[in-house]
Amino acid sequence: MSAMPETPSQAKARVREAAAAAAEKGLDHTVAEIEAALVSLWRFERQGTLAPRNIPDLVQWLASTLKKIAPPPPKKVKFSDPLRRILPLAETGVRPALDAAMIMIALTQVGDFTETPDKARKTFDLFMDDWRRMTWESARIPDWNRFRELVNPEERLLEGRLSREATLQILEAIAGRRRDNITTIPELSILACARCGQFKGRDRVRCPQCKDSFCSRCTAPTADLCLPDYATRYAPIDPARRQQIASNVGTILRGYRLDAHSRNEAFARALHEEGVDVAFTEAAPLEGEEVEGKQQRRKLLVRDRESPTVKRALFRALARCYFRAAGGSEPLLEDFFVELCMEVPVEEALRPR
Ligand SMILES: [Zn+2]
Ligand SMILES: [Zn+2]
Repeated sequence: MSAMPETPSQAKARVREAAAAAAEKGLDHTVAEIEAALVSLWRFERQGTLAPRNIPDLVQWLASTLKKIAPPPPKKVKFSDPLRRILPLAETGVRPALDAAMIMIALTQVGDFTETPDKARKTFDLFMDDWRRMTWESARIPDWNRFRELVNPEERLLEGRLSREATLQILEAIAGRRRDNITTIPELSILACARCGQFKGRDRVRCPQCKDSFCSRCTAPTADLCLPDYATRYAPIDPARRQQIASNVGTILRGYRLDAHSRNEAFARALHEEGVDVAFTEAAPLEGEEVEGKQQRRKLLVRDRESPTVKRALFRALARCYFRAAGGSEPLLEDFFVELCMEVPVEEALRPR
């Protein structure tokens, strides 16, 4: 057994080496090594050593590296093809194999996949089914009942919040989908929400403040932080001031007919009237960039994506207009303005319980 990886790249090296040595060292050793390396990667993600934006690449890398030991099923077997070798896996190896799949799926639920095309997701699902099939063939598992018997679905792993049961339901649906092309993959998360403890809803939002993961009903879907952290963050603003800003935000949004779901052009029209010319360019930073323009106008460079990050950038420009007119601003007030625009229920969170 190798030493505990201390960095994500060491953990990746452990996966790579284990996959390369599968034929020589056997599947039980390989699966145990991969599971251990994935546990480290999961911990790195939780600690923030591995940023959400790096997860999609990591997931893709895992799928392509592990394809060596879990290749897709052969379509048409030709006599000239090398004989497909199935390495044996002991029944005790089934649980680590499932847990490896569990962590891989869990990673797809915490990373930043906003830019990942559907095709990549589909490829990943198929790989998950290949992995499951490899496990079944190698350990001679005939059906889902036997699979469940071998893995103790009730047990929860790592922080007590990763669910094998949810993993099994997702894997079974993926297998069904591959067979009939219509089975729906359940909207289940493998990671319990830190607030309600439920597995409902696929994606998890990580709060950068407390580092916990929440379902999108326990944070507003477009929020940056979890609601208790919002309360702490905006409590220093005087309640009367908060109320005044909230009522002005309402007036402004109604006047321009804007909300968190408006198209980017609607924002551009509103900002134009406020003296800000919006230029959509892929070269802009994700959070946008405002520069001085000609004749006392301003220019906002932003990407043309219909994403919450871009909406926030556009609302932030509107917030700057508002506070400039009101005679100066503070970042906290601008943040507060943007949260209200994004329909984050800040006041609700701030109400004493
Ligand atoms: Zn929740
Ligand atoms: Zn939080």
